[in-house]
Amino acid sequence: MPIAPAALEAFCDAIDPIPFNADAAIVKRKSRDQFTISPLLREALAGRTADVVVTPRSKDEMAQVIRAAVRHRIPITARGGGTANYGQSVPLHGGILLDMTAYTDVVSIREGTIRAAGGATMAALDEAARKQGWELRMHPSTTATATLAGFIAGGSGGIGSAQWGMLRDRGNITAIELLSVEEEPRLIELRGADIELVHHAYGTNGLITEIEMPLAPAWTWRECLVAFPEFLTTARFGVQLAREIGIVKKVISVQEWPIPRLMRALGDVVPDGHSMVNAYIAQPNMQSFRDLVAEFGGVIVADHPSGENPFGAPLFEFAYGHGLRQIQKVNPKFTGFQGMFPPDRLVESIAQVRAAVDPALPMRLEIFWSEGQVVAMGSPVIVYEAEAQMAAMVELLQAHGAGVANSHTTGVREVGIKRITERDYVFKREMDPYNLLNPGKLNLDAAVHTNLPTSGWRFRKAG
Ligand SMILES: Cc1cc2nc3c(=O)[nH]c(=O)nc-3n(C[C@H](O)[C@H](O)[C@H](O)COP(=O)(O)OP(=O)(O)OC[C@H]3O[C@@H](n4cnc5c(N)ncnc54)[C@H](O)[C@@H]3O)c2cc1C
Repeated sequence: MPIAPAALEAFCDAIDPIPFNADAAIVKRKSRDQFTISPLLREALAGRTADVVVTPRSKDEMAQVIRAAVRHRIPITARGGGTANYGQSVPLHGGILLDMTAYTDVVSIREGTIRAAGGATMAALDEAARKQGWELRMHPSTTATATLAGFIAGGSGGIGSAQWGMLRDRGNITAIELLSVEEEPRLIELRGADIELVHHAYGTNGLITEIEMPLAPAWTWRECLVAFPEFLTTARFGVQLAREIGIVKKVISVQEWPIPRLMRALGDVVPDGHSMVNAYIAQPNMQSFRDLVAEFGGVIVADHPSGENPFGAPLFEFAYGHGLRQIQKVNPKFTGFQGMFPPDRLVESIAQVRAAVDPALPMRLEIFWSEGQVVAMGSPVIVYEAEAQMAAMVELLQAHGAGVANSHTTGVREVGIKRITERDYVFKREMDPYNLLNPGKLNLDAAVHTNLPTSGWRFRKAG
């Protein structure tokens, strides 16, 4: 439903002196995230835009925006860095695009815990923690622009998950403070299991103000590429590296030949025909890492202090979503899936998928911990032609035991990373009784859907 111009004008009057911008070009640009990484969403989300961008600088200003939005029943979609890859921060029903990037305070860093405003970038927080001998346990590969609240509300894990598991693993988020969207907004703080209500809920059930997270000791990292002549040995090595609990690492990214060559910035550092593991290893563990590489018959073809490699970007920008972006520079139609291979027969199921798929389709896998087990997430890379071709690949992955998240849809439930129970809907109604927060993402009827037959990821904990 378009927002009535009179309501929008009254809203803008009511939020004075908070900065806002209704310039069509700016609103359009801020209404996009990185959904173009998906060929399906590229079409489905074209033209979805907010009416106005509002940039609060404090909790009080956020509350002022909420009061005015509720009075005039105008939807609010929060946006951090706008790096989400499923259209999480694209407003489906217009209204206010709440730009959180002016709200960046570090509230405290003490005793291995950081508390900060939702709009702070992950890179800035890591830098602040490092000054005191700590670092973030994990961050997305988009760390330079991704915000803390955007990561918690839209992400799942990433750089650091090879050591610490996923964001949803118990202990990785200590507290989330958020505002309800009511006539008089309530500021509440969630701890323990309640954190799950807000994590990966796409900002549909409250506006996140502050987040508290435990930190890790700051390590001196080395960025390494290891080449192997054969793919399954590469995958086996990646899995074993994750299981070596004495070796501290934060990335284990397995890329089958010819992906190392499709990542043009790597040049020919990986020999022809070789697959690679991209790994971040803590300096004190380098000897043990070298021993493990030798045991598996690999060769370390790149080994640089973190931030000093010759490839023009940190090596984590060749892993996770960034890995896909790298090869899309060669062919924008390359795409893949977030298949989660079963931990109890990890290498076996990867091998089965490898055997079942056209050898010309190389596999990309991120190896990390989830719920106390080593898992692998990824799929063969395909050149997108049609939804039916994508559906066939989803079915193949599932036939070999992988739970597949749908990274080509905007619905929280449909994506299948967040487990949704009746409690989520109760909480949603309490926090956002007029359904003004990012409408269309949690409500199945209004989301932008694709028809992929995905089952979502499976987690062991009871729902
Ligand atoms: C190339 C590429 C690589 C990526 N790598 C990773 C990765 O390694 N790991 C990973 O988990 N994700 C990854 N992502 C997805 C995304 O970058 C991350 O999830 C990132 O943390 C999102 O942060 P952001 O600030 O850009 O969020 P945005 O895109 O701005 O927002 C994400 C969601 O959070 C909501 N939100 C933002 N701020 C608030 C707030 N204050 N209150 C409530 N809701 C809010 C938005 O409405 C939206 O639903 C990747 C994406 C791309 C395109």
